[in-house]
Amino acid sequence: TKATLANIAATDSKYEAYITTMEDEAIETAAAVDAAGIDANNLLSGIPYGIKDNILTKGVQTTAASHILEGFKPVFDATVVEKMRKAGAIGVGKTNLDEFAMGSTGETSYYKTTKNAWDQTKVPGGSSSGSAVTVGAGQVPFALGTDTGGSIRQPAAFNGIVGMKPSYGRVSRFGVVAFASSLDQVGQFTRTVKDNAAVLSALAGQDANDQTTSNRAVPDFTASLNGDIKGLKIAVPKEYFGAGVNAAVKDIVRQAINQLEALGAIVDEVSLPHTKYGVAAYYILGSAEASSNLQRFDGIRYGFRAKDVKTLEDLYVQTRTQGFGDEVKQRIMLGTYALSAGAYEKFFKQAAQVRTLMNQDFDKVFADYDLIVAPATPNVAYGFGQNEDDPEITYMNDVLTIPVNMAGLPGLSINAGFSNGLPVGMQLIGDRFAEETVYRVAYAFE
Ligand code: GLN
Repeated sequence: TKATLANIAATDSKYEAYITTMEDEAIETAAAVDAAGIDANNLLSGIPYGIKDNILTKGVQTTAASHILEGFKPVFDATVVEKMRKAGAIGVGKTNLDEFAMGSTGETSYYKTTKNAWDQTKVPGGSSSGSAVTVGAGQVPFALGTDTGGSIRQPAAFNGIVGMKPSYGRVSRFGVVAFASSLDQVGQFTRTVKDNAAVLSALAGQDANDQTTSNRAVPDFTASLNGDIKGLKIAVPKEYFGAGVNAAVKDIVRQAINQLEALGAIVDEVSLPHTKYGVAAYYILGSAEASSNLQRFDGIRYGFRAKDVKTLEDLYVQTRTQGFGDEVKQRIMLGTYALSAGAYEKFFKQAAQVRTLMNQDFDKVFADYDLIVAPATPNVAYGFGQNEDDPEITYMNDVLTIPVNMAGLPGLSINAGFSNGLPVGMQLIGDRFAEETVYRVAYAFE
């Protein structure tokens, strides 16, 4: 733990992965693990890890990378943090993200701009930018993130590591700063598939504090890693190899799929016809939920409070005006509009219907196949500030990851190769709660 903290102190000016490091807490936790004795049967015992800064840590500033939460110290740990502590893992710091997890580049953080682990002139991906980079750069063996529309899988792809968004309901969201509650899931970044499976085994499970968690038994996900995928049926959706996807990305992922075939998998092309509506529907539904969830930041309860205000109304307005960044304000306005009486039928309801159609697309494929394999992102990591004037280009980044959140499926990104020295991610999508199949194939490929 001391070596990890020293290494972060020495290297983080290069990556800027952390908003807050937890030296005292980490040493204290490590001492407790030492006193109890390292548990040889528990892969996480004594292992340092990073925590995305939208996951609550008791007594340690938790900002969600927003000015509005500056100085906020939660009075309890998120369930996932508590579970990691029970497993003996040692939280070493809070990682940078896009403000309130809204973004795909890490650039909307109020605090700093995280740099890609492979090339510091390139974006790290987002919104879990710091968690992906701290693992990609070798500062820690694993880190926790959240994925609402691709925020684990996309930065995992951009940093050449393994990133898993579990099925909706697999992992508790209690103590996670809510963005879009019907889409948000906590997941983990690691360098290997086995590590990833080990972390999920410890994170998953029903939680009395999150009514959306499933009561399904949690298997030991490392047990399914046997390298055997003979006869497994893999579906390759043609829409995920469409016009907007970079040619090198398509090539590398196709080569990886050939490798899966060589290992004995049966591969067919399928169609997920409603894919193209996913981004539009997501920005309506996700923003609507965000506009509701972010109402709680009023300057009274948490973090930042505007100064020199005369009335209560003024306090709310000034705190939110000064406390939220542009991207967050844009989403609050879009979401509030989509839920308003005049626009509800036309926008919110239609987006919800699109979501159902997307779910049905997946159900049809999973009636005949075990797994869907596709690129994780349309592009490799690009330069900072590139899409500043056209948010739509950035939004389109998530076209291949959003459908998985809409349907609550597990999705994993794994490195499939490199294009011009930058990592390309392959996405493995399982049926609901079929994480074991996802891991089995990822392990065989790795
Ligand atoms: N990039 C998407 C967005 O900005 C997804 C973010 C996420 O998964 N948290 O909404």
